Amino acid sequence: MTLPPSWDINQERMVEEQLIPRGITDPATLQAMRTVPRHLFVDDAMASCAYGDYPLPIGAGQTISQPYIVALMTQSLQLQGHERVLEIGTGSGYQAAILSRICEKVFTIERIDSLLVRARKTFDRLHYHNIISRIDDGTAGWPSEAPFDGILVTAGGPKIPEPLIEQLADPGRMVIPVGDQYLQELQLLEKRDGAVSVSTIEFVRFVSLIGAHGWAN
Ligand code: SAH
Repeated sequence: MTLPPSWDINQERMVEEQLIPRGITDPATLQAMRTVPRHLFVDDAMASCAYGDYPLPIGAGQTISQPYIVALMTQSLQLQGHERVLEIGTGSGYQAAILSRICEKVFTIERIDSLLVRARKTFDRLHYHNIISRIDDGTAGWPSEAPFDGILVTAGGPKIPEPLIEQLADPGRMVIPVGDQYLQELQLLEKRDGAVSVSTIEFVRFVSLIGAHGWAN
């Protein structure tokens, strides 16, 4: 696909001004942020703001995260390329697209049908064929495809859903916002040699994780 040169400039500026100065150093993450066309994941009317330093609405009351947060969550998984990664909350599909450039296969679950329909069209348009998606309550995970080397939850819940801890491989890493419905801690859960440890990356604000192991609504 050919893009006007201005998109390339915006992508490069996003990396140079928003990501590198804030500590995004993983080469694979930076390369994915440089190449995935973020403007195709938002409405045409917002395409010119797609590379701005903020989240944007994507319909159905949901948002595509700020580029820095997408990069931070991706980098925190420390992917090498061979991994199978589960994402909860497909939304626009942008985060799944970034992951798909740096791991083997992405499994992504969304609970709102209209969002997944649109995200799938964008994946097809970009020929990102290693993203498998489905409509469901992602707080229950995807048992038939488990275990996952990485799990990334892009909506905030009251606690880390137990099924996701069970479906994480050993070794494995999960990144998830945990807190109330206004402010959350971005937590990193690491599983290694049968032990689980949790640390906080930073404070964030995400839309709600709604489901059996999340918020009721
Ligand atoms: N990763 C997305 C961010 C979308 S916002 C992107 O890159 O655009 C978070 C998404 O999580 C919303 O689309 C919301 O509908 C979805 N969501 C919330 N609870 C969910 C659940 N239990 N299972 C699956 N998706 C959920």
